[in-house]
Amino acid sequence: MSENRLYIETYGCQMNFSDSEIVASIMTSEGYSLVNDPHQANLILINTCSIRGKAEERVWKRLKELKSAKKLNPELKIGVIGCMAERLADKLLSDEQVVDLVAGPDAYRFLPKMVAESFHGAQAANIQLSLEETYADIEPVRLDPSGVSAFISIMRGCENFCAYCVVPFTRGKERSRHPQTILHEAENLFQKGYREITLLGQNVNSYHFKDDRLDMDFSDLLIEVAKINPSLRVRFTTSHPKDLSNKLISAISSYPNICKSIHLAVQSGSDVILKRMNRKYTRSWFLDRILTIRKMIPEVTISTDIITGFCGETEEDHRQTLSLMEEVRFDSAFMFRYSERPGTIAAKKFSDDVPSEIKAKRLQEIIELQHKHSLYSNRQDVGKTFEVLVEGFSKRSRSMLSGRNSQNKMIVFKPKKSSIGQYTRVKITGCTQATLIGEELENTTQ
Ligand code: SF4
Repeated sequence: MSENRLYIETYGCQMNFSDSEIVASIMTSEGYSLVNDPHQANLILINTCSIRGKAEERVWKRLKELKSAKKLNPELKIGVIGCMAERLADKLLSDEQVVDLVAGPDAYRFLPKMVAESFHGAQAANIQLSLEETYADIEPVRLDPSGVSAFISIMRGCENFCAYCVVPFTRGKERSRHPQTILHEAENLFQKGYREITLLGQNVNSYHFKDDRLDMDFSDLLIEVAKINPSLRVRFTTSHPKDLSNKLISAISSYPNICKSIHLAVQSGSDVILKRMNRKYTRSWFLDRILTIRKMIPEVTISTDIITGFCGETEEDHRQTLSLMEEVRFDSAFMFRYSERPGTIAAKKFSDDVPSEIKAKRLQEIIELQHKHSLYSNRQDVGKTFEVLVEGFSKRSRSMLSGRNSQNKMIVFKPKKSSIGQYTRVKITGCTQATLIGEELENTTQ
């Protein structure tokens, strides 16, 4: 067994999982081997998220557990990296007496040096944010064993300053990666057998790379990735409604392998709340985008994020959210109750004044309505046939396979000929609110 054994634990969003793959690459090129069991590691890096209070709570709880692990194994070093490290470096290093190093999202290149310092008994911290760092030259080590779908981080940071969000403070200014490095990474993944790539960014559709020779926006990049091979599916997340241009919608509709699903976070249906959230669009502008998307891409599915109980939200604001949901009929949604995050604009300027039980009641109404819409959307697909990229076994049974269609709907079916990593055609015979159930028709090997 190698002397230096690293275990990486990741919390929070997909951006964080993608960052863990960059960290794995940096550390393995310095001689670390990755282990799947924390008990075998002499270095544990916890990649943290500050977006929701719950993710932070889980990290504090985990650090308590690791305190006992350290007592049993004094050689063990613990590092906290990512957004929480950026926000709470001092507290992490002092309070728990368990953390040996903290590194913010722009300091991963310094990790080997910091880890070496910690093995010499010093605590190490680097939470410097950068205006340039994109880790463009680092080929991530893929931690998801499926070998079918991969994420490529195309930009870092965000400067939208939505009032409830901590990201602009923990991840700094927006920086777009050089397109050639992205295309190179996507081509490599395709050669290795991957058949689906998701382009990732906190605000992915504001991607813009410009130098003396190149001027590329997100639609241009998306098309270039799609051109790598028609058998390579391309997705992207997360897009901001204000940056969803007609040019981008047209790119999605023109290339069959650019997936026909768009995630567009609306957050609220009330103009008053959207303004207080600093979302930079109105309800009618959002609805107009939805009309345009559906006109240009009739087979598209649209998903969203909704936050209920934001500062000052009245019953009328809440009704506006429900009525927007009725108007759009999202195919799926991530729904949350607002929880104040320290350091955000909302924490500084507004009072978190919607009582907890009202937030819970509103969230329940939103969830119930969305479940109705998701079920309606899935029922429309019964009887249709879709091309499915097989991703793995169904969570419930290893005799069933699961994969997604272009519309990002999960489909479970009994395999006849297909296997993981292949495309196949599945006829939908039934559904739940969350899943389509089908029968495999034929197998198309890609
Ligand atoms: S777009 Fe808004 S919610 Fe998304 S990361 Fe940026 S500030 Fe946060």
